[in-house]
Amino acid sequence: MILIINGYSSKYELESLSNMFFQGARVTVTDEDKRATEAEYIFASFSQEGEEACFFVEVRCKGETRALSQREPWESADQSRCDHVFGQLLYRLLSAATGIAPAWGILTGVRPVKLIHRFRREGLSDPEIRRFLTQECYAAEEKADLALRTADREEAIVALSRPDSVSLYVSIPFCPSRCRYCSFVSHAIEKAWKLIPDYLLLLRRELEETAGIVKQLGLRLETVYFGGGTPTSITAPQLEGLIDTIEKNFDLSSLREYTVEAGRPDTITPEKLQMLRRRGVTRISINPQTLNDSVLEEIGRRHTTAQTLEAYAMARAAGHDNINMDLIAGLPGDDLESFCRTIEGVIGLAPDNITLHTLSVKRSSDLRDAGEDFYRREHVRVTGMLSYATRRLREEDYLPYYLYRQKNTMDNLENVGYCRAGKEGYYNVYIMDETHSILAVGAGGVSKLKEPAGNRIERIFNYKYPYEYISRFETVLERKKGVEAFYTQKR
Ligand code: SF4
Repeated sequence: MILIINGYSSKYELESLSNMFFQGARVTVTDEDKRATEAEYIFASFSQEGEEACFFVEVRCKGETRALSQREPWESADQSRCDHVFGQLLYRLLSAATGIAPAWGILTGVRPVKLIHRFRREGLSDPEIRRFLTQECYAAEEKADLALRTADREEAIVALSRPDSVSLYVSIPFCPSRCRYCSFVSHAIEKAWKLIPDYLLLLRRELEETAGIVKQLGLRLETVYFGGGTPTSITAPQLEGLIDTIEKNFDLSSLREYTVEAGRPDTITPEKLQMLRRRGVTRISINPQTLNDSVLEEIGRRHTTAQTLEAYAMARAAGHDNINMDLIAGLPGDDLESFCRTIEGVIGLAPDNITLHTLSVKRSSDLRDAGEDFYRREHVRVTGMLSYATRRLREEDYLPYYLYRQKNTMDNLENVGYCRAGKEGYYNVYIMDETHSILAVGAGGVSKLKEPAGNRIERIFNYKYPYEYISRFETVLERKKGVEAFYTQKR
């Protein structure tokens, strides 16, 4: 599909929205009017006539041509208003042309809940916000409701953060094998294993340096999060070594939460679980993704449901009282019935958190070439899965507390963290809401610095792969000095 944009310089929103209707295909953007030669196209044109801004959108698709236009007072046509008007016109035409009605309407952003926080700050009531989302942005009632409920819980967690708050992310970018849908570990895992001892040595150095910065700047550590990869891929003593370094170098007296994403059940042992508990870890994840063994096999996730159940029982026996379980809707080989069985099975285990992801087909994953047909075929199935899960989790008193969307998710749907009251994963909210700075250590880590009394965000990137991280470690430390520069510059 080709998107022709005429007279309008801000192309991002129009392109993002068009992509939502043609998942798996490529929408090419041009400013050259090729309507006479293209069999199918989207055409968006913007112009000024006197005191008015004129919007015109035309879509030719499946042999039919449809068009809509709108006029707005020129003085109110700032970029946000123009994006909004174009979004509405495009959505209406593309829905009619394709028969697809994305459930989040014209909202293309990663964090729809942030919009709610903003509206509430501006004094809008919840009914007014709901009306805007459903009638102006064409979001489904179900999504508006989910976003509002999520905002309620997020607000309480965000309110705990102070201007000097900071969180720490520790990256363990290793996994026992690579899952088919994963875009993360893109080089041979066997090769990466050999790097672990050197990697951990340097990671501990980066932790020490980071702790020094936190101390010097007088920052207050709120949460620690070990992610990956699969942090429990490394041995219990290796993991404990890192925990040791954190304990010796950071002031943990203000810590609200200490999460280790155990992740793959095939890496979890009683020894690791007991050590984590003993060393003050307050929250872990055990991620089944599905409780259907044939789906696990299909996605190349080399563990079984029996291992998930065993790992969960071991974690409870070790005393873990805040356990998250990640699930994915839309996995290849999964169907609605099997997905519903997974939801029921996980609810039956009664974990404290259930995080429900929608499959996202990343460019570097094995599923990247799935194509347009794949998305069309899966559209109904995935929507049904999320509706079922949303309803059942609500009935079981699981509350949504953070929500985000990713590019290329099936049907442009969302990822939602649900929890029992009082068991929210604070780190998840802080990173999604961009509440305070997250200092990341390790390969693939991205430190996201947030201005204490403003909204300025800066990122510091570590090298993505462990071998780069090891060979260019001095540059990693050099870049970390940017944290001090960021804070001292604004204070
Ligand atoms: S366990 Fe997670 S990070 Fe590791 S390969 Fe599988 S999906 Fe990717």
